[in-house]
Formats: sequence, C-alpha cells, structure tokens
Amino acid sequence: MSVSAGFERMLRGASLRVTGPRVAVLRAVHDHAHADTESICGAVREDFGVVVSQQAVYDVLRALTDAGLVRRIQPAGSLARYEARVGDNHHHVVCRSCGAISDVDCAAGYAPCLTAADDLGYEIDEAEVVYWGHCPRCAAAAPGG
Ligand SMILES: [Zn+2]
Ligand SMILES: [Zn+2]
Repeated sequence: MSVSAGFERMLRGASLRVTGPRVAVLRAVHDHAHADTESICGAVREDFGVVVSQQAVYDVLRALTDAGLVRRIQPAGSLARYEARVGDNHHHVVCRSCGAISDVDCAAGYAPCLTAADDLGYEIDEAEVVYWGHCPRCAAAAPGG
C-alpha cells in the first residue's frame, strides 16, 4: 500500500471524499506536527507540488478537524496549530520565548481532568492542559541560565 493510499483510506473511513488537496494536507499534518496553517500551506506546495490557496487549506483543515482526523490546538498568544496525533489524552509544553511546542504524555494516562468537580450544567467534551516554560535551547541562552 502506498503512503497516499493510507491517507485516502483514512479520509474514506471518516466519510470524507478523497481529493488531492485533502490527501496532501493530511499528509503534511502527519509530517509536520504542530504546524500552523501557513507552514502547512508551504509544505503542501513544496513537498507535494500541489498548488492550493491558503483558503483551500483552511477549509480542508476544518473538514479534517471536524472529522476527527486532525487535532487543532491553540495555546494562548499562538496561531492555531494542527497535529495528526488524535484520540489520546496528550498535552503540550510551550516555550514562552520561541513558541516551540512539544507533546507531553498525559501524566495520569487517562483523562482525569475531563471530570470537572462541578460541570455547572455544561456538556463538557474537552479539557486542555498546557505546560508553559522555556525550551532547553532558550533556557541555555537565557542570561544567568
Ligand atoms: Zn524556546
Ligand atoms: Zn501534540
């Protein structure tokens, strides 16, 4: 099975019509974890030679996110980022200086934070944990660090 056949299968599995841009964007998100829309646009153009407008990439990303094939994260002060690691309860660590983002496995291994002490009547479907700090590179470059 070719690589793109795998992505085509994922699209069909999510009841999405298989189109060139969808396959290219899905593949770009798999290849570039936590990339923003502009980076994904660039990757689609450079890596796969598919010419798509930024608006088309936005639309595809929204469809993929709605279908659960892609997860959208947006740390405070950051652009929306996309990743292909979905369906687990992993968290993110964000560098305050350079904005680098890395995955952090859930400390507890399941989703304890999804259970609010009091849901106030909301139908809660997501809880987000973001660790903020400085990445090793920025920490090493900091004065006195
Ligand atoms: Zn950094
Ligand atoms: Zn992640």
